[in-house]
Amino acid sequence: MSATSADRCAEPEQRLLSVEQGRQRILQAVDAVTGTEQLHIRAALGRILAEAVVSNIDLPPFANSAMDGYAIRSQDCAEHAQTVLTVIGSSFAGAPYAGLVGEGECVRIMTGAVMPDGTDTVVIQEHAERKGEQIALTSVGLKPGQHVRSPGEDTRCGDTVLEPGIKLDAAEIGLLAAVGISEVRVSRRLRVAFFSTGDELTSVGTPLARGQIYDSNRYALHGMLSKLGIECYDLGVIADNRDAVRAAFRQSAEQADLILTSGGVSVGEADFVMETLAELGEINFWRMAMKPGKPLAFGRLDKAVFFGLPGNPVSAMVTFYQFVLPALRKMAGQNARDPLLLQARCSTELKKAPGRMEFQRGVLHREADGNWSVSTTGLQGSHVLRSMSKANCFIHLPAENSGASAGDMVTVQPFLDLN
Ligand code: AMP
Ligand code: MG
Repeated sequence: MSATSADRCAEPEQRLLSVEQGRQRILQAVDAVTGTEQLHIRAALGRILAEAVVSNIDLPPFANSAMDGYAIRSQDCAEHAQTVLTVIGSSFAGAPYAGLVGEGECVRIMTGAVMPDGTDTVVIQEHAERKGEQIALTSVGLKPGQHVRSPGEDTRCGDTVLEPGIKLDAAEIGLLAAVGISEVRVSRRLRVAFFSTGDELTSVGTPLARGQIYDSNRYALHGMLSKLGIECYDLGVIADNRDAVRAAFRQSAEQADLILTSGGVSVGEADFVMETLAELGEINFWRMAMKPGKPLAFGRLDKAVFFGLPGNPVSAMVTFYQFVLPALRKMAGQNARDPLLLQARCSTELKKAPGRMEFQRGVLHREADGNWSVSTTGLQGSHVLRSMSKANCFIHLPAENSGASAGDMVTVQPFLDLN
């Protein structure tokens, strides 16, 4: 439903719920699912850690060299005079020197190799002049302990290396491997069922009849959900009749933790989605003080959480990111986090009437002087899906804002944050 100034007048904005209020109500109403699984760390990428991980080893496990050079005893170095030492062996990564290093002796050492017993300091090879079995240190002023990585410097045995509720990214997978952990316990994958309703909708692969459009929401939803690692149950386009909608809801509630529909949430629409949900479960119908995406339905069917998103493709995506994503994060056991918001200089004019918070689509880029600037993608209609495709961020314009001029600072949320 597009908002004209006429219908804004007819509808006092105080009857609308703010985006923040909507999000809080949703977060209060959903809980983390129970159920975990034990996975090899490689398979755990992108999953939510279900329990703390404690290291059973020191990292590094032994004192080792940070550079290629010579392992020496710092007490052998005369402060002002040149020091000459005898090279008695070598320590390579994975092939330590076995003996004890005595007065006037040193060992050739490579990065990552064990510091030989008796040594405490590394002189880099550029600061040692080698003549046969002897080295002369060419640089004075060495610091005892230099270029040595001490055991447990990164992580100590018994340290908690990862807290539950974090999403495992490549660095965490590497860290787990570094402390010798091959398997972790993660929350089970969430299951989401979704379908579209609307007699005008056709699935791709079928020719369009007159008055029909292709269903794009199911495909965009599938994309957003899959990127989050969610198990998707696509029930297709459900005919606008009571029995079909009822059957789709029953099937969804059996399979899924969360049910998503799009379309049919505008006021006065002849649609069986809301009616059926009211009969089978619980439904709240909210008008959000936001654009796009004013109508939003939220409820429950048995154990499943239900979201009825608006039908317009941009509205469906915006409401997904602002409301469904935080709910999914909580349900997956992920720790709450603040959105990544940046300030950017607007390089184009942004039109907006006060009243509702807007999520305009923008292109964020870095100027030559290092500052962020953002421009509009152009047409902002809630049906213009290309505005999402061209964009790399949302421009957040608060409810009371009445537009921006070129040069104004605005708040943006990079799409990279929507994960
Ligand atoms: P509705 O919320 O059902 O009133 O739909 C609002 C607008 O979104 C209408 O123009 C619908 O044709 C369109 N729409 C609804 N569902 C979809 C969908 N799944 N894919 C693309 N457009 C849709
Ligand atoms: Mg419809």
